[in-house]
Amino acid sequence: MLKGKNAIVTGSTSGIGLGIARSLAGAGANLMLNGFGDAAQIEALHAGLAREFGVKVGYSGADMSKPDQIHAMVAAAVKELGSADILVNNAGIQHTAPVESFPPERWDAVIAINLSSAFHGIQAILPGMKARNWGRIINIASVHGLVASTEKVAYVAAKHGMIGMTKVVALETAKTGITCNAICPGWVLTPLVQKQIDDRAQREGITVAQAKAELLGEKQPSGEFATPEQMGALCVFLCSDAAAQMRGAALPVDGAWVAQ
Ligand code: NAD
Repeated sequence: MLKGKNAIVTGSTSGIGLGIARSLAGAGANLMLNGFGDAAQIEALHAGLAREFGVKVGYSGADMSKPDQIHAMVAAAVKELGSADILVNNAGIQHTAPVESFPPERWDAVIAINLSSAFHGIQAILPGMKARNWGRIINIASVHGLVASTEKVAYVAAKHGMIGMTKVVALETAKTGITCNAICPGWVLTPLVQKQIDDRAQREGITVAQAKAELLGEKQPSGEFATPEQMGALCVFLCSDAAAQMRGAALPVDGAWVAQ
């Protein structure tokens, strides 16, 4: 279905981004991977995806807190793959602390990586998408783009901002073949969430299994984690013709978290 389309997935060396990259490659899209990690592991990932799915796979080590590197990543995708048709803004970090003791440099980093990077990526990729009159921009927001939790002031602000940005871009591209939507995952068991589980287990002197059950029990009524594969499948759908009139939506995949 996506044969001949070229997709950039930011933060795709781990977790949800990797799940999305695998799903898009499974649907035939060529990939530009991005994210941090061990160079040898990234090289193996890169070669493994190309072999498994028979698609072209590039890699950019662009730091999503650096606008010039984001522009260079989009230019590299165009040069290596031929165009940049799909942008999944997924890279993200977390920091938890009460607002009055939240380190200002962590605020700046979360806003830069979780919010401003999507703005810079969209700015870089839109002219090419407009020239071809086709594009899919998918912003990986969060349930925290729709509701709040304590101790996540920067993350919640960034994710709410991302949903606002999604709506503006959807309006500005409404008469084109480009769509922009946001996905709002609830808890997905990735390294980002595992850290919060481990911190909770240590803080409360409970086992990791207990911490995991508490984390789900407090927010996610299904009692189950959503998965990177489910986020990937939704991205593939958003890239399909069936989703051509889905524009500016914020789609929860959250075990009924925001239904409460
Ligand atoms: P993760 O920690 O497993 O992966 C994050 C990815 O972003 C990694 O590839 C990492 O290398 C990359 N990254 C981090 N900083 C970067 C930077 N400066 N430049 C480039 N790449 C960078 O996290 P995840 O849970 O897979 O999260 C992915 C996205 O999904 C994030 O935006 C997160 O906010 C969102 N999300 C996650 C959950 C969840 O429960 N896991 C829920 C809602 C939303």
